[in-house]
Amino acid sequence: MSQDTQPDSPLRIAVIGAGPAGFYAADALLKSDAVNATVDLFDQLPTPYGLVRAGVAPDHAKIKSVTRKYDATAQLPGFRFFGNVRLGKDVSVDDLKNHYHQILYTVGAQVDRKLGIPGEDLNGSHSATEFVAWYNGHPDYRDLKFDLSARSVVIVGVGNVAVDVARILCRTTDELRETDIADYALEQLAASNVEDVYMLGRRGPAQAAFTNPEAKELGEMEDADIVVSARDATLDDLSAAALAEHPDRLTEKKVAMIQSFVDKGLTGKRKRLHLRFLVSPTEITSDNGNVAGVDIVHNKLVEDGGRVRPKATDETEHLDCQLVFRSVGYRGLALDGIPFDDWTGTFRNEDGRIMDDQGWRVGEYAAGWIKRGPSGVIGTNKACAQDTVARMIEDAATGKTLQPADSSPEAAEELLRSRVADLFAWSDWEKLDKLETERGASLGRPRLKFTTREEMVEAVLGT
Ligand SMILES: Cc1cc2nc3c(=O)[nH]c(=O)nc-3n(C[C@H](O)[C@H](O)[C@H](O)COP(=O)(O)OP(=O)(O)OC[C@H]3O[C@@H](n4cnc5c(N)ncnc54)[C@H](O)[C@@H]3O)c2cc1C
Repeated sequence: MSQDTQPDSPLRIAVIGAGPAGFYAADALLKSDAVNATVDLFDQLPTPYGLVRAGVAPDHAKIKSVTRKYDATAQLPGFRFFGNVRLGKDVSVDDLKNHYHQILYTVGAQVDRKLGIPGEDLNGSHSATEFVAWYNGHPDYRDLKFDLSARSVVIVGVGNVAVDVARILCRTTDELRETDIADYALEQLAASNVEDVYMLGRRGPAQAAFTNPEAKELGEMEDADIVVSARDATLDDLSAAALAEHPDRLTEKKVAMIQSFVDKGLTGKRKRLHLRFLVSPTEITSDNGNVAGVDIVHNKLVEDGGRVRPKATDETEHLDCQLVFRSVGYRGLALDGIPFDDWTGTFRNEDGRIMDDQGWRVGEYAAGWIKRGPSGVIGTNKACAQDTVARMIEDAATGKTLQPADSSPEAAEELLRSRVADLFAWSDWEKLDKLETERGASLGRPRLKFTTREEMVEAVLGT
């Protein structure tokens, strides 16, 4: 029997995770002519937008403006937001199955990958994930401590997240004040002693994962010089031959930009950002349990099954530093009752349909980073979510949905209210948003974020 799509019995869908993938999926479902759906969008935080609020760098205001599109989705008929509800703590998958015909997981990739070298757990060695969430005011990370009295910092990785971390460490207080960075982070970064920041890439400039606009931005910081040695910026023979054989304008531009930093040299700015290529950390060294430096080995590139891989040479080096951030990728967190692929760090799925050993788990889906891993830009999640929604609509049309005991919107809300005292509706978020913007405006800043659940609840619900 196919799902009844009459107005009085819509397909009731729970979307878990109010980041880009959750919003793009909600939008596609609510605008589809093929199905009469309602969407309840959940988030563990009282606030929506996922990594657009808690990940994207504060100095990337333009990128964050994508949230206006999500706000428009929230105005569509059939949309409800339930903030402050954590799947796995406040509600279980079985709870959701009692109230919804379909469940879509869009919980993102929340934790970092490890380097697997000695010293990784020393005081002063952190994941970029934690630092990013801290400076963006994520309630679960705001109380972390980073010793910014460090003069020298090593960031392992040369992706866009590593670049974000480097920029935030190198920006001046005035540059940061123009952003929505958390107030405590602004204060602590203003008092920081950081002078030298090293970014380590295991392969060469042609393989650096950061994108060209991010690389260009590095050269535009007010009080930080970019330091790249001619040796590091020069293409190795393998990469030069690969580029000659398969010309790639973007890579050529990136390499040229990195080489232009060599020519620019030091101009006497207060901080220095050192880009190092063809090096891998082998150990984080200790001084009484605190980070004292990083041992690195120089690599050469070799071809291995059609891919360019780094291979350690005999040349080693030691970098003194007091703080280390690893930025070598994100992975998803397993959640009770949902099949997890430990190798990829994603929920087990085929084209967005959740799979277990018996095959497809009818009515359960994934989209965004928890479906395909941490890759692509915000917009990549749109096509990804739309693909999963297409599967959801196909399945609903053939009656392959969950059979909830009570699919009324009231019953779901009643359950949530019985479990979560401080449930946040979309209108509560709108109030919080307004308050944050007003508080910011009084300080000449775009926004002053609330950074604990308690102060969010107090400000909006008055409890
Ligand atoms: C540091 C950083 C900077 C970035 N900068 C950019 C950039 O400048 N430009 C760009 O295009 N892309 C950027 N990206 C990539 C972009 O943020 C991602 O592509 C996108 O956010 C992934 O969307 P998502 O919805 O899959 O996950 P997320 O954005 O992570 O959203 C997942 C949501 O699920 C919620 N959640 C998790 N677990 C639960 C649970 N158990 N119960 C309820 N809710 C839960 C989370 O609170 C979160 O709100 C950046 C990523 C990072 C990490």
